[in-house]
Amino acid sequence: MADESDPTTADVLVVGSGVAGCAAALGAARAGKDVLVATKAERPKDATSWWAQGGVAVSRSDAEGFKQDIIAASDDTADPDAVDVLVENANEAVRDVLIETLDVPFDTTGDDPDAFDYGREAAHGERRILHVNASTGRHVLGPFLSHLDDHPNVTLREDTAALDLLTREGRVHGALCEHDGDCEPIYAGSTVLATGGIGALYGRSTNPSGATGDGIAMGALAGADVADMEYVQFHPTVYAGDEPFLLSEALRGEGAVLRNADGGRFMPEHHPDAELAPRDVVARAVAAERERTGEVLLDVSPLDFETEFPDLAANCDERDVDYRTGIPVAPAEHFLCGGITVDSRGRTSLDRLFAVGECSRTGIHGANRLASTSLLEGLVWGLRAGRTAAASGTDPEIVDAPDLRDSDPALPAAFAAEKFTRLREVIDEFVGLSRTPDGLRRASAAIRRLKGEVDAYVRTRTSRELYELRAATVTALLIVRAARENTDSRGCHHLVDTADEPEVHAD
Ligand SMILES: Cc1cc2nc3c(=O)[nH]c(=O)nc-3n(C[C@H](O)[C@H](O)[C@H](O)COP(=O)(O)OP(=O)(O)OC[C@H]3O[C@@H](n4cnc5c(N)ncnc54)[C@H](O)[C@@H]3O)c2cc1C
Repeated sequence: MADESDPTTADVLVVGSGVAGCAAALGAARAGKDVLVATKAERPKDATSWWAQGGVAVSRSDAEGFKQDIIAASDDTADPDAVDVLVENANEAVRDVLIETLDVPFDTTGDDPDAFDYGREAAHGERRILHVNASTGRHVLGPFLSHLDDHPNVTLREDTAALDLLTREGRVHGALCEHDGDCEPIYAGSTVLATGGIGALYGRSTNPSGATGDGIAMGALAGADVADMEYVQFHPTVYAGDEPFLLSEALRGEGAVLRNADGGRFMPEHHPDAELAPRDVVARAVAAERERTGEVLLDVSPLDFETEFPDLAANCDERDVDYRTGIPVAPAEHFLCGGITVDSRGRTSLDRLFAVGECSRTGIHGANRLASTSLLEGLVWGLRAGRTAAASGTDPEIVDAPDLRDSDPALPAAFAAEKFTRLREVIDEFVGLSRTPDGLRRASAAIRRLKGEVDAYVRTRTSRELYELRAATVTALLIVRAARENTDSRGCHHLVDTADEPEVHAD
């Protein structure tokens, strides 16, 4: 066991406190290990998990149907073995953790607490989604964090960012962490990355602003394998005005339809399942219709919107959007299907390093994720990785921490913000819903230049915002590299012909 009197050591260090990190911490804590959760979140809502709307898919009695839906949504690119792991463990993980341990108040059809009101979403062949209104995430993450806060084996450190992994000879020994400007190494027998997604790389995203790809970059810089980075999923129905918010797939699952500026439905021309087609298909169709007619509206008149989706109706009211006449929508970055390559227990290619949740690549999403499978993936892989990390059973080993450079006062105040803006411009222009080989080449050149500038400052300076920027540029390069290497247009990686592309300007 770790020395409990030493706050800089733990048996298992979990980086991130979304659903995946919480599940990993629970798995390891239940195995009797001391777990330290370091999270840069200051509030639960800083994790994407908090924002999840539609819910958590389970297999009910039709496991085969669930597997087929996941594989079909992925355009036949999901790893069938990984899909088996997800689906075969879904019911038990949800029952054990969400229902019996956390008592999540999933919606029911009547007074019987076990008569769940299973929802349906796009590309799901049956009603199999447990939900709490359309704000499931906060009803899962809130109780999860409280449970861990009370757990005798778990220490939660908020507002604490991991900047780099501590490695020696291919083995990971913890992470260098920053809190309130101070940096210290946290040594651990096993380290679990659970840092979430990459939304901050895009101008329009559904993710919270801290989704800067930190875990993926830290893992890749330490030498861990990554895969499927080109598969960046855009959600088709995100409010198109200021303060964008997601309009859950459950709306279309319950009958909402998409109309262009002329009032016409267009999805039936794009896919036999119309509005219930896989996300990548709907997202591209929405973008094309917006381009062609100027606007796309989500028509919620077939539903009792206010009663069935009170949280979303409230979001509309706050923005003075009259949902009775349709809600203007446009695609926005939503989810990364790829990430750090892991096996069925969350093990990466580096010894003692695990990755779970959105920063990992388990293989279940392939080129495109099926709705409401991400919370479940985080839960199932989190528990498995936590248990495996606990069983790895080594004491934390103290290795040399990096020599920190914080003496150079020359980092201009606006440097990180300005470079982030520049990165988003490049990514939005060339690495969006559709890509061209030439655009990707330009993006690669521009991001490489940017990374050179950032690296120069990282050599002389240590700050959270600088390391987030470094993570974002490293992650952006991984996405662009994967997109350039993959000439097969599948799922979220959609290649179109090169034509009259504007020059990208170096600043
Ligand atoms: C609006 C919205 C709706 C969604 N709806 C659904 C849904 O209905 N069903 C579903 O299955 N999925 C849904 N998703 C996707 C799903 O919510 C996420 O993919 C999932 O919650 C990711 O969980 P995670 O634990 O991997 O990451 P997160 O929940 O994002 O947690 C990452 C954590 O890591 C921390 N962190 C990041 N970097 C560092 C660092 N360097 N050091 C320390 N801590 C760090 C963050 O602060 C955060 O606490 C939705 C996503 C969005 C944005």
